[in-house]
Amino acid sequence: MNAAKRLEIFRRLHEDNPEPKTELAYSTPFELLIAVILSAQATDVGVNKATARLFPVANTPQAIHALGVEGLSEYIKTIGLYNSKARNVIETCRLLVELHGGEVPQSREALEALPGVGRKTANVVLNTAFRQLAMAVDTHIFRVSNRTGIAPGKTVLEVEKKLLKFVPKEYLLDAHHWLILHGRYVCQARKPRCGSCRIEDLCEYKLKTSDD
Ligand code: SF4
Repeated sequence: MNAAKRLEIFRRLHEDNPEPKTELAYSTPFELLIAVILSAQATDVGVNKATARLFPVANTPQAIHALGVEGLSEYIKTIGLYNSKARNVIETCRLLVELHGGEVPQSREALEALPGVGRKTANVVLNTAFRQLAMAVDTHIFRVSNRTGIAPGKTVLEVEKKLLKFVPKEYLLDAHHWLILHGRYVCQARKPRCGSCRIEDLCEYKLKTSDD
């Protein structure tokens, strides 16, 4: 795909949704970090339901750590893998207090050293909470990048690097959200809704389908 096409794709995505946001509910970097840890293999809606109960009671590393694994599990047991997630969150909270003064660190290295935090989670936090140029590639972004030709790659890391290189600079900070939302609601896994896709004329996918 050439640069002019990429530019037009993001111009349109921006036009349709000038201030894209994550669908995870959060009000601080710490809440976002916890929500993203909980969201692995779970839906944002499911995570939001759990954090809507949890955060009013505990939304600091100290407060969540004080709940303990069992106490935290009570709030998140509707989410898949809640047992291991509870252990990771409690240990992450302990490390945030002991090593980072109760704050979420703003470096990839420090974030990825926290239990339950991999490259993708670190990228989401760096990009969404701290507005750094980082690109979290999830299943939706991976699919959209490959189908459209914006940033084709065989691995998540390859797609991440290509997106950082090829997405026009002025759109890079928000590209993560636009691509996720496009993958979730339009360029869906089983049957992409090409008939109502805003970038259909620019997309290079060979197997476009109608909406019916
Ligand atoms: S045209 Fe189809 S395949 Fe291409 S981005 Fe749109 S929905 Fe996805």
